[in-house]
Amino acid sequence: MAVQLTPSEREELREKYNAERDKRIRSDGNEQYQQPSGRFSNLLDDPYVQPADRDAIHDDVTVLIVGAGFAGLVTGARLKQAGITDIRLIDKAGDVGGVWYWNRYPGAMCDTAAMIYLPLLEETGTIPSAKYVPAPEIHAHAKRIATTFNLYEGALFSTGITSLDWDADASRYIVRTDRGDVIRARHLAMGTGPLHRAKLPGIPGLQSFKGHAFHTSRWDYEYTGGDPSGALMSNLSDKRVGIIGTGATSVQCVPHLSRAAKELFVFQRTPSAIDERNNHAIDPEWFSELKSGWQREWMMNFTTLQTMGFTDEDLVKDGWTDISLRIRDRVIEKVQAGEEFGPDTLLAAYEESDDEKMTEIRARVDSIVRDPQAAAGLKPWYRQLCKRPCFHDEYLQSYNNPGTHLIDTEGRGVERIDETGVWVNGVHYELDCLIIASGFEVGTSYSRRNGYDVAGRDGQLLSEYWSEGMHTLHGIHVHGFPNMYILGAAQAANLISNIPQNYVENSVAIAAVIAEAERTGAMAVEVTKDAEDAWIELISGVQRGLRGNSDCTPGYYNNEGKPMGRKEQLNSSGHPGGPIAFFEHLEAWRTSGEFEGLQFSRS
Ligand code: NDP
Repeated sequence: MAVQLTPSEREELREKYNAERDKRIRSDGNEQYQQPSGRFSNLLDDPYVQPADRDAIHDDVTVLIVGAGFAGLVTGARLKQAGITDIRLIDKAGDVGGVWYWNRYPGAMCDTAAMIYLPLLEETGTIPSAKYVPAPEIHAHAKRIATTFNLYEGALFSTGITSLDWDADASRYIVRTDRGDVIRARHLAMGTGPLHRAKLPGIPGLQSFKGHAFHTSRWDYEYTGGDPSGALMSNLSDKRVGIIGTGATSVQCVPHLSRAAKELFVFQRTPSAIDERNNHAIDPEWFSELKSGWQREWMMNFTTLQTMGFTDEDLVKDGWTDISLRIRDRVIEKVQAGEEFGPDTLLAAYEESDDEKMTEIRARVDSIVRDPQAAAGLKPWYRQLCKRPCFHDEYLQSYNNPGTHLIDTEGRGVERIDETGVWVNGVHYELDCLIIASGFEVGTSYSRRNGYDVAGRDGQLLSEYWSEGMHTLHGIHVHGFPNMYILGAAQAANLISNIPQNYVENSVAIAAVIAEAERTGAMAVEVTKDAEDAWIELISGVQRGLRGNSDCTPGYYNNEGKPMGRKEQLNSSGHPGGPIAFFEHLEAWRTSGEFEGLQFSRS
């Protein structure tokens, strides 16, 4: 039975939310975070493999894909399906997998259901073990895609790009790497994603800590014991461990730390909203009865419902679709009661259902956490979509463990760190080990995140061209950067709840464009300025959902609470009709065979 709130209770909530947000607004926004340096400079290294010695490569390929995460892998697979076989993947990591290569912290898993999150399940003949699967299974799936589509052939791992320059005379990108390679690529696909460069919290004294310390994206099992599959971290049994950050990562690893550490101190600035997980195994017999083409149907079903559309059935049925269906059904109720359909009705429906949902989430904290002070601290006072919604059945329960302590900084963050521990509210917490769960650079510039730039026609740098915000057609093609394809979500479907679907759909169009260029002998494919401008005009100013909402508590969903200028809006915009409208648009654009807006040049 859903909670019902009176108008005055809603008003009280508004005031409480505003007060909690105001506590957290900082003038430095994104600038509060530090880049990996000093004792944390190893955060840029790969602890999992010793790079093999190899000779520098000098060759020529049809397609070079930067990044071997799901974006690069799915694009590689689509290219193979389109008959393009001469492909080279490059990644700094020692294997494929992207974020699922780097993040091996205990408890890591994906909050989006495996049936729709794991791309190319049908093509690889894979049955997920459960509704939500753990990171090692996701990493294994990435490897399976690479094997199935023969993408290991020609792949270069432990290899960082140092420069990418368009050579107009040769109609090729000249790709240089930190292994001395110079590779000429006819086409360049950029699958570099936003979640690979760790950021550090801007806490005075962080570098001075003399105990053991690491970021969650480089978990040190040698120190903790245990392994990525969740085996007990027995080396922590006599240790006082601290973790800074309570986002999606921390929520997943805290239960493991709570079980293993002698004492665990969770330093919290803002609590996550934790809804129930309800995971269950997938029955192989049920799975075997799914009809060919089921995965696209499931993905489309999820995305339709997740963006408040209509389907006969909710196939995935999870916390994501629940959020949207509540809002959609509330809109229907209002319209049936005589209200006019429009932005005001939508907003009111959103606010009412969110107030109820968040009241339930706070009540869930009270029903699980026995210590009233900890329970009070763990309650989130903001709208569910202000931050990444979390789903977990063991996180809140961890605080019932007598060795696990919530250290609530009440929005201020950790005060300072010294050689032996962490200070909060004038109290010193002595620690043997400090784990940093402060996330990744999402809102910073492309060249800062990647450490290199792309030079297009006439040497123009991508970071310069985008200095006032992204400019693309479909989030893929960039004027002045022939034969380059961006693999992402922004300025396209902008589907955040199931990132791989962006790649699954966009890569079909990218493969079709490259196949067309190869078929017609085109040396260069470039979007015209007019087509790019028209696309920017179409998507400009469209802010779907709550991302960017300045009423929200700060986080990377809303530019850390700073007003979103045109640049930030462009970087997070999508098709005005939403993801499904974008996917339909892209399919029609591709299948028409006209590739409207692109110029294919033969010389
Ligand atoms: P986040 O950026 O989401 O969280 C960082 C945490 O560090 C926040 O709790 C933040 O507090 C806290 N923090 C930052 N500075 C300080 C400080 N000075 N003092 C105290 N606390 C501080 O990073 P995550 O690694 O948790 O997640 C990154 C993203 O990765 C997720 O949003 C999600 O997209 C993805 N992910 C998805 C998972 C899934 O599917 N389940 C699992 C893990 C990650 P504050 O909130 O106040 O800023």
